[in-house]
Amino acid sequence: MAIQWYPGHMHKARKEIEEVMPQIDLVIEVLDARIPYSSENPMVAKLRQDKPCIKLLNKSDLADPEITNRWIEYLEQEQGVRAQAITTLQPAMVRKIPELCRKLVPVSEGALKDIRTMIMGIPNVGKSTIINTLAGRVIAKTGNEPAVTKAQQRINLKNGIVLSDTPGILWPKVDNEASGYRLAVTGAIKDTAMEYEDVALFAAAYFLHAYPEAMMERYKLTSLPATDIELLEEIGRRRGALRSGGHIDLHKASELLLHEFRSGKIGQLSLETPEMAQAEEAEVAKL
Ligand code: GDP
Repeated sequence: MAIQWYPGHMHKARKEIEEVMPQIDLVIEVLDARIPYSSENPMVAKLRQDKPCIKLLNKSDLADPEITNRWIEYLEQEQGVRAQAITTLQPAMVRKIPELCRKLVPVSEGALKDIRTMIMGIPNVGKSTIINTLAGRVIAKTGNEPAVTKAQQRINLKNGIVLSDTPGILWPKVDNEASGYRLAVTGAIKDTAMEYEDVALFAAAYFLHAYPEAMMERYKLTSLPATDIELLEEIGRRRGALRSGGHIDLHKASELLLHEFRSGKIGQLSLETPEMAQAEEAEVAKL
């Protein structure tokens, strides 16, 4: 089931979060390290106001480490939050989160009190996997299509941290077309929401520009194709994605590129940089 981001549904989620926010000491926002800008929910900054915030750049195993470091620096300098790259493939990294929470919330005089945290993020960024890793048992369902309604989870981590997940479901960036494409390239937006081959062409154009060597190596190219469509055709040719009459099957070639990107087979690739985000944000502001 693909999620539809209806205004009414977005409004309901926002209201629910506003209601619980006064009881929260710290917000943990989970982002996809490959698209820290596009995987952000546009309301989180307003909803959390000046509460301490940790931005977790999850799935960093799939992202370009150099770009991830630039994102961390950018987020900490520009947004006054704490940013941290993690991957749930390394549970020890996830288990360090409570320690980080402790550092960010000043202990009120005298007795140690529980730190109440809320974990926020758009669907599919890895929230449930993080919650389960922290809890040491399966509490939240992972990897499936999220339902439109869900019960709020509240877990006492025993080490003085109480973790709640977001009531309602947070929507991703909806006002920026390029963000929509990047979300689709990572698989955060269902494949049916956009023309599949357009998504692959968007990815091909970006990879040609940002990661030409990774393309050459993965698809054993002898020279760099000049355009996105030529790259897809070349991938199809090399991998035998052909239709009758020897024509290249562009849908099959699109699948190859997108699946191999999503599973990390092409290498650690990011889809956006802080500079791109700043430029796009300025464009959106003009509208
Ligand atoms: P949620 O919708 O935010 O709760 O996301 P889930 O926890 O259900 O995770 C969505 C998908 O991403 C699942 O298939 C997870 O196995 C996968 N995933 C979560 N964290 C990571 C990570 O750090 N690296 C990789 N490669 N996959 C991850």
